[in-house]
Amino acid sequence: MAPGHAAERGVGRPPGGPFAGRRIAVVGLGKAGLPAARRLREWGAAVTAWDDDAARRAEAEAAGLRVADPALAWAFDALLLSPGIPHRLPAPHPAAAAALAAGAPVLSEIEFLFRAVRAAGSRARFAGITGTNGKSTTTALLAHLLRGAGQQAVEGGNLGPAALDMPILPDGGTYVLEMSSYALERLDACTFDVAAMLNLSPDHLDRHGDMAGYLRAKARILRGAGVAVLGQDDGWTRSLRPEGRVVPLGPGGVWWEGALLRDAAGPLADLSRCPTLPGAHNAQNAAAAAAMALALGVGRDALAPLLETYPGLPHRQERVAERGGVLWVNDSKATNADSAEKALASYPRVVWIAGGTGKEGGIAPLAPLFGRVAHALLVGRDGPAFAATLAAHGVAHEVAGTLENAVRRARALAAPGDVVLLSPAAASWDQFTGFDARGDLFRRLAQEEDA
Ligand code: ADP
Repeated sequence: MAPGHAAERGVGRPPGGPFAGRRIAVVGLGKAGLPAARRLREWGAAVTAWDDDAARRAEAEAAGLRVADPALAWAFDALLLSPGIPHRLPAPHPAAAAALAAGAPVLSEIEFLFRAVRAAGSRARFAGITGTNGKSTTTALLAHLLRGAGQQAVEGGNLGPAALDMPILPDGGTYVLEMSSYALERLDACTFDVAAMLNLSPDHLDRHGDMAGYLRAKARILRGAGVAVLGQDDGWTRSLRPEGRVVPLGPGGVWWEGALLRDAAGPLADLSRCPTLPGAHNAQNAAAAAAMALALGVGRDALAPLLETYPGLPHRQERVAERGGVLWVNDSKATNADSAEKALASYPRVVWIAGGTGKEGGIAPLAPLFGRVAHALLVGRDGPAFAATLAAHGVAHEVAGTLENAVRRARALAAPGDVVLLSPAAASWDQFTGFDARGDLFRRLAQEEDA
């Protein structure tokens, strides 16, 4: 499906645009889907929108979109399917099944963005970042480095804003895109000037079948990439052999020795001076962002001061308050033990707030780090189960129940030099609308001056 040019068809602007005359079904009208449907219509497409949820359909109708179920009568050139909706495993959504049966492509917003940018005649660059962990941090950090060096850059994709809310950048501008495996599976013409594959560990296997399927989906980011930045910490990522220039996140590329970030030409930055990038996992993210920035023309001397002033993302080891020698850190995004492990490993002595809707195995895998926990305060549905694990390891703890109680107790318990760390190792659904609402409440409570 090549975008049609209004000029080619000898007509004026409306109904011109990069997708003039294209019939596109947009299924899944959430945070990204609804803006995508609107933008595709602006760009000349005949859009039919659908969501299995009636409230979302009503919202689309209120926005003046045509709403109909494309699965009932497939008559479209392509399907834009929200990343959360499967088109193969565990079972294809009916709209995806109809598209595939008709031989129509199932695409992601990034594919449409790429086509619109190229149809507008822009050579803006595309930088894509994927991996099981660290995508958002590396994406936000790279955009910060590019803008700090005076380049035009916008970040988006999985990390808001929605891809099709982004502006058309001119030549030399850069889209910095966080790419999930779902978005990558649904690319066609889109290739990246610079792509990073950070790491891989088992995740989303219901959608990809097995690790080989997951790796295949992720590795799509490297197809046709001019520069491929590759993590070296796991065998799956190390096994990739892309065509373009490879920059490993290890010797020969960009790597770290303790807190020293470097490449073959010498030091690039001292990560101990970068308070928003604590821990070895963030050294990998910093190395990836630095390698991509260098490939995109940022001068090596510009990197250190920009890494030092990176503001960090909310809810990922976000420093929200510092009072009486106690640092308060919001890591609400840590919804599983794996993520909480990274935060616990970053601080020597913590008052740890954890709990919520735990994952299989709970916090047992974190036992090697329990020595860092001066006291644990447990909240939410699985607080009592987490308490049992801590009791078995002799860790001081109490079941606080709510986040409000936990913060009140943390104020009383934390000694100068301690970190009060919200890193729940659990989802938030039992008490909150999402990890962001949980983190927002923690930030507000931590910043209250009533200690
Ligand atoms: P993603 O967008 O891939 O979920 P984020 O940058 O939002 O990643 O980080 C989420 C959590 O994943 C962090 O709080 C941290 O616990 C962990 N993490 C971040 N970067 C890495 C990395 N490079 N390797 C392993 N774990 C990481």
